[in-house]
Amino acid sequence: NKMIVLKDYVKGFPKESDLLLETSDTQLRVPDGCDGAVFVKNLYLSCDPYMRGRMSKLEGSYIDSFTLTGFGVCKVVDSTHPNFKKGDLVRGMTGWEEYSLIKSAEGLSKIQHTDVPLSYYTGILGMPGTTAYCGFYEVCSPKKGDTVFISAASGAVGQLVGQFAKLFGCYVVGSAGSKDKVDLLKNKFGFDEAFNYKEEPDLNAALKRYFPDGIDIYFENVGGKMLDAVLLNMKLYGRIAVCGMISQYNLEELEGVKNLFLLVVKRIRMEGFIVFDYAHLYPKYLEMVLPLIKQGKIVYVEDIVEGLENAPNALIGLFSGRNVGKQVVVVARE
Ligand code: NDP
Repeated sequence: NKMIVLKDYVKGFPKESDLLLETSDTQLRVPDGCDGAVFVKNLYLSCDPYMRGRMSKLEGSYIDSFTLTGFGVCKVVDSTHPNFKKGDLVRGMTGWEEYSLIKSAEGLSKIQHTDVPLSYYTGILGMPGTTAYCGFYEVCSPKKGDTVFISAASGAVGQLVGQFAKLFGCYVVGSAGSKDKVDLLKNKFGFDEAFNYKEEPDLNAALKRYFPDGIDIYFENVGGKMLDAVLLNMKLYGRIAVCGMISQYNLEELEGVKNLFLLVVKRIRMEGFIVFDYAHLYPKYLEMVLPLIKQGKIVYVEDIVEGLENAPNALIGLFSGRNVGKQVVVVARE
């Protein structure tokens, strides 16, 4: 069994050398006496920004190198759990390795719809898709005609928030870190406007250009300077869904948000949320999104890397914006 192991806690920006590929002998079945467990072959692994948090030293924690874990799509090879049998396709938390023993199968769910790409269960039909869905429809309280701004807009979550907002009848602008990503936003995902934040010397001026009358909804993925500039441009009673702040994840000290007090002046509702609080909405989300995928009304861009040995590089690329769309690692296709 090949696996990706974190050797030591990471400070600052993670490097590929922090994550090593190791090999061990593993029996390809649930060990004797291990009831309620599932042994899986990992097919697709999801690269997600929250995984950076797991690599940092927390108060009182110690490291004895461990295999990275994350969301994935897997095939059941052996099971002592009554709900899963050999050959089932499942999604949930697994290891960054070829095969994993999942001792507590409560976090696994069976994949019911297999007439869409299986990798979608790491993205549009997995955690990032549910994040975009609950974040936009529940946390942003959208109204038709609202002006919506999304940062990290071409990524796993952002590309969907923008498309949902367009389908809802909003005016939608996104920011991203390259010309190619800006082209994707405008030409593939149907955003009204998009800009490369790395080429804007003045983010406030850039936002004023696209939102002369201000922003109703900001879907926050990056934090830092962008949030500061957005606050200046929010309308009265605007809403900010604080989904993530990736620009801060590799800093040892957070950057100050100078304009935070404008939350009060402008009566803005800024609301943090964690996708797992909305797990009950997943069936409703599938009901909405599966027909949209099949009718071609929603598109989903994935950045697919082949081979477990390339997984560390793919994960680290999230923090420099190398990924275009949802970053997925293919360990095996069946
Ligand atoms: P993405 O697919 O968007 O990948 C990360 C992207 O972030 C990169 O491609 C890059 O795009 C951008 N980025 C990286 N570093 C910076 C930086 N310093 N400043 C600005 N942008 C940067 O990731 P996801 O869509 O999976 O996640 C987006 C956000 O949502 C993250 O903050 C994540 O933590 C959060 N999240 C929160 C959840 C919740 O429950 N609250 C659940 C899932 C995700 P670019 O080239 O445009 O810079």
